[in-house]
Amino acid sequence: MKILSPAKINLFLQITGKRPDAYHDLFSLMCCIGLYDTVSLDVGVEETAVSCDHPHVPEDETNLAFAAADLFYKKLKKNDGVKIAIQKQIPVAAGLGGGSSNAAAVFLGLNRYYGDPFSMDELMSMGLLIGADVPFFIFGKPATASGIGEKLKVYPGLKKLKILLVFPGFSVSTAAVYKNLNLRLTKCKKKLKDSLLDKGSFDPRCHLCNDLEAVVASKYPVINTVKTALLDHGALGALMSGSGPTVFGLFSDSDKASKAKHALVRSDDTWHLYLADMITQDDGYSISDT
Ligand code: ATP
Repeated sequence: MKILSPAKINLFLQITGKRPDAYHDLFSLMCCIGLYDTVSLDVGVEETAVSCDHPHVPEDETNLAFAAADLFYKKLKKNDGVKIAIQKQIPVAAGLGGGSSNAAAVFLGLNRYYGDPFSMDELMSMGLLIGADVPFFIFGKPATASGIGEKLKVYPGLKKLKILLVFPGFSVSTAAVYKNLNLRLTKCKKKLKDSLLDKGSFDPRCHLCNDLEAVVASKYPVINTVKTALLDHGALGALMSGSGPTVFGLFSDSDKASKAKHALVRSDDTWHLYLADMITQDDGYSISDT
């Protein structure tokens, strides 16, 4: 079984508070995009194992896809295993949720294979034990997320725009970003108040906001360089996704996005550029067999 495992972007990410555990409370608008890893499952082997073609992704039980399979079999009370092979397209530790998406793909794939023993809600609860973004990837539709990311509400108001992603070629540790966050200096609260986000009319020209962006940009000024380059080349808006460092630009049509890609390729050859579509509600679930 081969499963497409998409990346996500955060169009809005407000950190609302710190919790006693390692997590923060947040409010986010998230959308899957058409940049995919491929997760292959070979079910019915004795022991679960994982392999990945990317050198920075672990091939042991710390791989989120492995952890998902392990938990699935424990809950199913079955002594089976699955051989998982991951082909990476999504940049790693880049704010695009690749590992969480791979975990969601394993949950959905195994659930299908065993005849849907678990409901979507049950799968999302299991997903939350693996990582805060996993329930969103199981949910699969554009959504607002609150709590630590597990309280999901479909967001129907997203216009399907073209995306140009710029991964500046280095990874960022999510834990380190949250450690350096000063909640008093965050700014998305005001935007949220001013925006029509809750009424389903997100506008990329004025509502994009990420409380983690300033933390990462203060250490890596290239974040601002990329944003300016995207806006100079016709993006309606540009923002760092999640804990970065990937920055995305939103474009009204694919022609404009392609032209920007060509222009940016020439400006810095360490930047990795990807064109993608937003996966909106009309597309249904984003995780599907190839
Ligand atoms: P986060 O959820 O921490 O915000 P991210 O979207 O920025 O993550 P990921 O690509 O998910 O980044 O990788 C984060 C870390 O998780 C990597 O450094 C990697 O070592 C580890 N990891 C574990 N399993 C996977 C996986 N299947 N794919 C990618 N990374 C994984």
